[in-house]
This record gives sequence, C-alpha cells and structure tokens, in this order.
Amino acid sequence: MDTILFLAHTEEDGTLGKPALEALGAAVELNQALKGTLVAALYGATAQPAADAIANCGASRFLAVAGEDFASARYATDAAACEALLRAAQATIVITAATSRSSRVMAGVTRRVGGCVDTHVTAIAAGSGSVTVTRWFYRQRIEASLTRTQRPWVLLLDPGAHSPWQGASGSVTPELIAVPVTESMRRTTVRGMITPPADQQTIRPDAKLLFVAGAGWTKKQKDGQTHVPEAETLIVDFLHKSKASLGSSKSLVELTGENQSALRFMSHLNQVGQTGATPRHPKGLSTCCHGEEPHTVGWRFIGERRAINLDPNCGWARGKADVLYVADAFEVMGKVNALLLPS
Ligand SMILES: Cc1cc2nc3c(=O)[nH]c(=O)nc-3n(C[C@H](O)[C@H](O)[C@H](O)COP(=O)(O)OP(=O)(O)OC[C@H]3O[C@@H](n4cnc5c(N)ncnc54)[C@H](O)[C@@H]3O)c2cc1C
Repeated sequence: MDTILFLAHTEEDGTLGKPALEALGAAVELNQALKGTLVAALYGATAQPAADAIANCGASRFLAVAGEDFASARYATDAAACEALLRAAQATIVITAATSRSSRVMAGVTRRVGGCVDTHVTAIAAGSGSVTVTRWFYRQRIEASLTRTQRPWVLLLDPGAHSPWQGASGSVTPELIAVPVTESMRRTTVRGMITPPADQQTIRPDAKLLFVAGAGWTKKQKDGQTHVPEAETLIVDFLHKSKASLGSSKSLVELTGENQSALRFMSHLNQVGQTGATPRHPKGLSTCCHGEEPHTVGWRFIGERRAINLDPNCGWARGKADVLYVADAFEVMGKVNALLLPS
C-alpha cells in the first residue's frame, strides 16, 4: 500500500500558501484513488496554524519540523528538515508544491533518500494501480505522461495546475521531528527582503488577464514619430485599472535592456514565450506584438486569446488568437482605459 506524503513549508505567519494547498488537493485525490495512507508534513518557524487549517484533510499522521532555524529558505536547514520528514513518514510518493523554496532543495533531498524526483508536474493520476504524472517538455511543446517504479517518488507540482484543497479547519497536534542544526548549517542567513512596491509589481500570477505588450509600442507610428511616454501611460493606466498581469515579447524586453527608448517597467521576467515564461491566466490580450511562434508558444496555458495589431496578416490572424482586432492599439487602449472605472 502506498504512503502519500504531502510536504510543505509554512509561510511567515505559519499558514500555508495557495501552491501548498493545491499540492494538498492533489495528494488527497491521489490517496483516495490509491486507497493509501496520507501523511502531512510541515516545516517552518511554526507549523501549528497550518496543521490546524488542514486538520480535516484525511491525513492519518501530521509531522512537523518547527523552529526559528527553519523560518527562512536556506538549503542546509530546509534539506535536513525535508530529509527527516521523508524518513519519518516512510513515504512511497511525496507531493510538494514547486515553490522556489522547495524546488531548491527537493532534488538533493531525494538523492539523500535514494528516490527519484520529477519537477514541473502538471497532473497526477492513478489508473489500474499505477501512478501517472504529466509534464511538459521542450518549452511546453510536448506533453508527456510518465510512470516510475523507483520509490520514494518525489513530485513537485507546478502552481496553478490543481485546485486548492478546501475543508474545515480543526485542531491537531503534529508529531515534532527533531532535526539537529549545527553551526555550519547556519552559515547562510537571510538579512531581509527587497521587493518592488505593490504598484510596481507587474507580474501577477493570480490575475484573470494577461496583458502583453510588444515592440510595436516603441515603433514609429502613422505620424512618423515614436510615442513611448504615451505608451507607458496607457499601459500603466490599464494595469492599474484592470489589475492584469504584464507580459512582453522578447523584442520589447531586449529594447528595454539595451536602454533604447523603451518601457521602463519591463524586464526579462515579463517575457512570455519559448525562452520566456508560460504563464497561466483565463484570458490574454496581446497589443503591438506580431504573434510569432516563439512568442505564442508561451500562450499555451492562456484560455481565451485576443490581440490588437495594425497588420491583418500578423501571426495572431493565423490561428494564434480567438479574436484579432485590426486596429491601432494606442487608440483602442485609450478608449478601454476611459471606459474602465478610475482606480
Ligand atoms: C530561438 C528563439 C527563441 C525566441 N523566444 C522568444 C520568446 O520567448 N518570446 C518572444 O516574444 N519572442 C521570442 N523570439 C523572438 C520572436 O520570434 C519575435 O522576434 C518576437 O516575438 C517579436 O516581438 P514583437 O512581436 O513584439 O515585435 P515585432 O515583430 O517588431 O512586431 C511588432 C508588431 O507591432 C505592430 N504594431 C505597431 N504599431 C502598432 C499599433 N499602433 N497598434 C497595433 N499594432 C501595432 C506591428 O504591426 C507588428 O506586428 C524567439 C526567437 C528565437 C529565434
């Protein structure tokens, strides 16, 4: 019989983030399908709020590694905590969210326990007794289903791929697992966090809409002039009002990098496409972007796609978008902003 381990780090306040609840949703579902044993394991400064929140998830054991040494992401202590939790649970399958914190340590932890690991998992299913996971390869062009016989099998589930676990909270006292922390494990310390102010944070994974800007915003327009400051105002205004996430084409972020007259709030992190990101949003609106294959391959997980382009023969018109508005994006976005309520 399989023992499914749901493994998660807690957030600063001791609760679980959305990606962790999604991983728990997948673990609960798999456990039901396999009729196995579910174990929940938590690590962080404190684990009690998280344990109480998921008290009714159906786990037969709750394990925790807790203490100030485990408050921040640090390879040595995180890996030691995860290793101890895996060994204590005697898990055959481990499901954890692919957050940056867990992604950093899980390959090493798996090596320590003699298991195998798969990253960027998007679905986990059990059919006729065997477990199959799904993931994408070659920049999201090939989708593969795979099974493995080696155990423990550690699965890092990509955020946004499963619905989060929902259930009533309760009260549970986790078994505390002691992890000795030596001085050398404390060599790395987190001194603080530097993050952009909320209104400059343009990448919003939970947004309903992905708004993509292409290089056309910086090109000469019908009056023979460029209108970059106007483009900036239109885009920033739209982002404020719509709370959309901002994506970009490669050409536009590269112009910004070369310090040409380009949009100041754009960075390589915004790039969508073959060499960029593959975000997940229900809707997408592309503006002043040609819609070439290396870019649109990054739209793999965007539900409804619309584009605004002056060129009726652009890539979006060739089966890449559901709706193409052949129009001037400056004019369209000006009108859209006027229609949206003030922020
Ligand atoms: C190996 C490889 C990997 C790549 N990876 C990526 C990637 O990850 N992401 C990516 O984006 N690209 C990638 N590319 C590059 C990609 O092929 C394109 O060069 C790039 O996406 C073009 O960007 P763009 O559409 O913004 O610019 P352009 O091709 O310059 O298109 C600008 C568009 O703006 C339109 N326009 C101009 N003014 C207006 C206006 N007023 N209103 C409406 N429309 C207007 C024009 O009609 C034009 O279609 C890759 C290429 C290679 C070879």
